[in-house]
Amino acid sequence: MQKKELLYEGKAKKVYRTTDPQVYIVSYKDDVTARNGLQRGIVVGKGTLSNRLSNRLFQLLEAQGIPTHFVQEWSDRETVVKKVEMIPLEVIVRNVAAGSLSKRLGFPEGTVLEQPVLEFRYKNDQLGDPMVNASHISALHVAAQEELEHMARLSLQANQILREFFASVQVDLIDFKLEFGRTPEGSLLVADEISLDTCRLWDSETHEKLDKDRLVQDLGGAQEAYGNMRRRLGFPQ
Ligand code: 5GP
Repeated sequence: MQKKELLYEGKAKKVYRTTDPQVYIVSYKDDVTARNGLQRGIVVGKGTLSNRLSNRLFQLLEAQGIPTHFVQEWSDRETVVKKVEMIPLEVIVRNVAAGSLSKRLGFPEGTVLEQPVLEFRYKNDQLGDPMVNASHISALHVAAQEELEHMARLSLQANQILREFFASVQVDLIDFKLEFGRTPEGSLLVADEISLDTCRLWDSETHEKLDKDRLVQDLGGAQEAYGNMRRRLGFPQ
């Protein structure tokens, strides 16, 4: 198989067509963007970390029965993935209050939630990815009711698996975002990425932030935080 032309360039990734019509190659960039691209930065080595971490997590989910788009790591920053029709929704799972949940509902940051909180957002940059409920999703015709229920179930299962994984490197999974794709046969699988750009991760002891919030909140030390996670995960520096 060979990589062919660039199909799409997003904020953090490029997607290439290949000689195999069933798969694409994604290439992770070092760029970090936040607030819908209003805030930008470069973290050297972020692309290779996102690639390795996403692939590790996709394989972990697959091993526990959650289908993903992962096919094969292609290079240190590129991966072969199944071609799917992306569903324009973000599914967010929260274990601890932070970010927009704290802003919207007034939970102090760090409040442990009694049960995971699940949210759907409609992916649309112009609208600022608004939160939507089942009724909005039905009106928008972006997913069927059964698909919505299936995405919710898979996301809550993924939460358990990802929490355990991060706990093994003394990191708390505060919240994260998943995106789903539809195969030509109509089944759902986890697509996009699962990385420091899509998860809030805090040191279990000190609660130090080890993710993209270092940049979003102008905390400085994004490069160091990404290096810290790379060391914990045993990935090459
Ligand atoms: P919040 O709604 O608190 O800003 O984000 C909740 C979680 O979802 C965080 O882990 C955040 O990284 C992730 N998330 C929400 N929206 C986006 C998005 O548009 N892009 C990315 N990469 N992650 C998002």
